[in-house]
Amino acid sequence: MVSKIGINGYGTIGKRVADAIKLQDDMELVGVTKNTPNFEAKLAEKKNYDLYSSTKKRYDKFVEKGYKVEGTLDDLIDKVDLIVDCTPAGIGKRNKKKYEENDVKAIFQGGESHELTDFSFNSSINYEKALGRDYIRVVSCNTTALCRTISRLKNNFQIGKIRATMIRRGGDPDQDDRGPLNAIKPKLEVPSHHGPDVQSVDSEIDIETTAVKVPTTIMHMHSLNVEVSKDITKEKIVSTLRKDPRILLIEKDTGIDSTSKLVELARDEGRKRYDIWEIPIWVKSIEVTEGGIYLFQAVHQESDVVPENIDGIRAMLELENSRGKSKQKTNETLGIGELL
Ligand code: NAD
Repeated sequence: MVSKIGINGYGTIGKRVADAIKLQDDMELVGVTKNTPNFEAKLAEKKNYDLYSSTKKRYDKFVEKGYKVEGTLDDLIDKVDLIVDCTPAGIGKRNKKKYEENDVKAIFQGGESHELTDFSFNSSINYEKALGRDYIRVVSCNTTALCRTISRLKNNFQIGKIRATMIRRGGDPDQDDRGPLNAIKPKLEVPSHHGPDVQSVDSEIDIETTAVKVPTTIMHMHSLNVEVSKDITKEKIVSTLRKDPRILLIEKDTGIDSTSKLVELARDEGRKRYDIWEIPIWVKSIEVTEGGIYLFQAVHQESDVVPENIDGIRAMLELENSRGKSKQKTNETLGIGELL
């Protein structure tokens, strides 16, 4: 049976999840909601995605501007098994009541708090616990990246404390009002919220994080230090990480030594919107010393959560009970693991 899915909030994350749903054979995209009749609404229309407005008032605005609108969010909710809520941070909390009243399942994004659903999701960690759930939160781009790498290390080695610094992009490429423009801005609340967010997915992970914002829009970078038992070698770590297609190991001879070159790779490979769903890790940066494992990883903030949303839908609607099978299906349909 093909499940019916709606996207509430066709923005940075929503439009990517919508396109990913279109590639799946076990789910159908019923429609997307927009708040504003802008170019993104126009593009949704061009792709033949059924358009819904967030409210009745907004519906009239779309009609005035000549859009073909199928109805409001309420109408979309009536037609679907699950809503992927991709509205800006904090709005999902308001929407949850509506989903509950209409008995529709929903996925929320990392801008919402863990408490909203009491279940924070990452495919590599707790897929089985999401089976049949009504509400889940796919954690943020940074937390997703940390969960992927750390879970891989945790499942294969005896790891101890993790210390990580998030070097965060100032804003997404379209966020022309964000900064800093010419500064490095530390998050003065130390440790940062990213560590507890990882623990909202797996409370056994011992992690403390700090964060700074830098004047770039394309990607984040993480500097990780993981305490480990003594018998671990770089070779073992590399071969363990290599087994996960959602981790992209960057070899020294590729000449890729920055986030801008990663973006160039994605563009050359014809990745739509230069999306990098995988977490790139520089092999040369992986070192084991007395202090544990060190490594640098990059995060394409606009797209790494997309496969998690697809797996989340599968788990909640019990379309696939096996984590491995769901991840593989998502990987194959999106082309994950095929860069380089
Ligand atoms: P966005 O602003 O790019 O997109 C949000 C969309 O929702 C827009 O199309 C907007 O028109 C629409 N919208 C606004 N108000 C609405 C309302 N009341 N009802 C319905 N639609 C409304 O936001 P985004 O970056 O896609 O973020 C969405 C969620 O994903 C947030 O929780 C965010 O924290 C999370 N997230 C964002 C990123 C990122 O880097 N952009 C990464 C991971 C997770």
